[in-house]
Amino acid sequence: MISRTITLIRRMIRAFIGMALASGAQAAPALVLSPALALTMVLAMTMTVALTVALALAPGLDMHASAQEAPRATTPVQPVLVNIQVDAEEDDLNGLLNITTELMRRNITAATVFATGRFANANAKILDGLASSGFEIGFHGYSTGEQLATMTYNEQYDLLARGSQAVRGCLDCGVARSVVSFRPQYFSQNEDTLKILPKLYLFNNSGFKAGVLYAEGHREDRGPYKIEEHGLVAVPVTTTDFRGEDIYLCDIGTALGKKLSATDWKDILLKAFDECRSRGYPLVVIFHGWFTGDRVKYSDRWDSFVAFLDYAQQHGASFVTTDALANLFLTNPILNN
Ligand SMILES: [Zn+2]
Repeated sequence: MISRTITLIRRMIRAFIGMALASGAQAAPALVLSPALALTMVLAMTMTVALTVALALAPGLDMHASAQEAPRATTPVQPVLVNIQVDAEEDDLNGLLNITTELMRRNITAATVFATGRFANANAKILDGLASSGFEIGFHGYSTGEQLATMTYNEQYDLLARGSQAVRGCLDCGVARSVVSFRPQYFSQNEDTLKILPKLYLFNNSGFKAGVLYAEGHREDRGPYKIEEHGLVAVPVTTTDFRGEDIYLCDIGTALGKKLSATDWKDILLKAFDECRSRGYPLVVIFHGWFTGDRVKYSDRWDSFVAFLDYAQQHGASFVTTDALANLFLTNPILNN
């Protein structure tokens, strides 16, 4: 708008000078202007500039409007950033594959598979395949059920170093993938864990629950935030109020911990999605291969999962990995408002 105004003013001044010179040349051969002519020129120039500026700045008045199509009045659709985290642990490989196959069928590979070191050791080829399909591979501790918060610094370091190495691939066979996202078993971690993670190049920590379990000073944060003193980014799992209780989005947390039905779980997922959409929050949710992915034993949980995917895809979900979500929030401060 400003550059267009300047161009316009320039053009008008040029035209005006051309006119003045022509009339001056007519009036006298010398380059002497009469005071009356000079005054008229200055006045006319001032008025031209003032009029041009006023026209250009007038609200809603586009001087090129005739050449353009009027913008259509549509309600902007706010995309919801969704990070699906699939836990790969225990022995049930089929469950994990059921989930990842369903995601791929829907062209969703921007999701994160959090594997334990033990799972990675037993299923190296499977993780390779998922990584090359586009899934982010995250690190979910050494084995299911461990409690980092009960261990010493050295015990934690040893376990996390061995586990993360397993999930990164096998160096001997030339497979070394980048793994930078972490979530501890049972959200169990302490200050020592936070000190160890960056040393092992694990920079994103999803071991938090929005508004329920958070780094000091971050109770209000619903999206990723920096834990400055440790050089980490917290990526909290989404929470929502359900019947007066804060529920974090995890399939087994709601089923085994809270004893909620598959229908409740579906309602929670859809409600959380709507909240995130109306408030501009990202949605971070955990599914377990051995639970949600077991389509025979827990078919009703599978149905909740599919219903959630249907709903999310129909209502503007934009799927991202944990790492991408962390980076989006670090580089776009607007997302934190
Ligand atoms: Zn888990």
